[in-house]
Amino acid sequence: MPAHLKLRLRMRRLLSPAVIQAEGIGIVAWAALLLIHPAIEFDSFSLLLSACLLVVCRLHYVIENLHLWRLLGVVYVVVLSAGFAYVIGAHDELRVFVLPLAVILVISSAILFISVQDYLICTSLVWLILWPLMQTDVYVETQTFLWLFCASSVSIGFVLSFSYLKTLRSVLLVESEFRVMAETDYLTSILNRRAFMQCFDDLLADGQSGYFLMLDIDSFKSKNDLYGHDVGDKILCAMAACLRNAKGSHSFGRIGGEEFGVLWLGDDSALACDFALDLLQAIRRSVAAPHNYTCSAGMARFSAGADMSVVLKVADRNLYSAKRNGKDCVYLEGEPVAAPCGATTE
Ligand code: GH3
Ligand code: MG
Ligand code: MG
Repeated sequence: MPAHLKLRLRMRRLLSPAVIQAEGIGIVAWAALLLIHPAIEFDSFSLLLSACLLVVCRLHYVIENLHLWRLLGVVYVVVLSAGFAYVIGAHDELRVFVLPLAVILVISSAILFISVQDYLICTSLVWLILWPLMQTDVYVETQTFLWLFCASSVSIGFVLSFSYLKTLRSVLLVESEFRVMAETDYLTSILNRRAFMQCFDDLLADGQSGYFLMLDIDSFKSKNDLYGHDVGDKILCAMAACLRNAKGSHSFGRIGGEEFGVLWLGDDSALACDFALDLLQAIRRSVAAPHNYTCSAGMARFSAGADMSVVLKVADRNLYSAKRNGKDCVYLEGEPVAAPCGATTE
């Protein structure tokens, strides 16, 4: 999904509660007008408008599609304005309230939209609907002031909408930058331990099953000691690139210094083992001598409702077996899945 669309979706999620509250206030004001004014009768059109307002407000709350959500914001303000215009048009004594009503609608609509264009469309429609009601004796001498109110209210609403959307956008951008930083390993740019474990936890909560691979670079300390930490860092990055290029994994991350985790989804143990063996092969070939390196892996099966710490312990035990039995191999259920096991390329 494009970044700007993601941002708009997050803006919508943040603004939705305030939008629904503001729409609720509009509906209460509309109901109050119908109930309090003694001369107003409930005819079928006002009932239809009331039903429309309730339906639009409800849809606005539940709808997922962003374009429809934006459209419903405009539809709500138009229906509310049309309702007020209908009642005021039928009761001349209420016309004196048209101007303050239009100004309130225009300014309060500034928080209903996640785009300034939507806001401007909405305010134009409000003024178009309510303007004809102002062409009466009340304002006959003061037309200029009407234009002034119109221009001022739209300008204030525009500035409000523009500045608060700009602030919201920059706050969300900073937040997402921090989120990425909090979830990414600085050296290898793959998921860090926290994000990887969260991903694993989510999979288990979602009832998924598959295999967890715990990978540990073999004799890494001696690589550091022999060639320096910068070479060690390059090896870690090469290892991350192998995980990134491995086809079939669900997710992977760096879970410790030279330890990595991979999640593979599915119940076919033969396929999972093939995946692990191919990965170790790619790792063996990923860096040319003399900096070439190998890696050992411990596998553990997980299924819906499994305890993550138990799965980690099983994988760790298998990894320990792989290390103890010559390294550069994969162990599952205490048995090597690669044969012959133990030939390192160092
Ligand atoms: P084994 O085959 O049993 O796993 O041996 P090993 O040498 O890989 O394991 P050991 O735990 O003895 O050493 C791990 C080394 O990893 C020690 C540490 O200096 C190094 N290391 C951890 N994080 C980093 C890092 O970010 N960069 C570099 N260059 N080295 C790191
Ligand atoms: Mg280790
Ligand atoms: Mg190691």
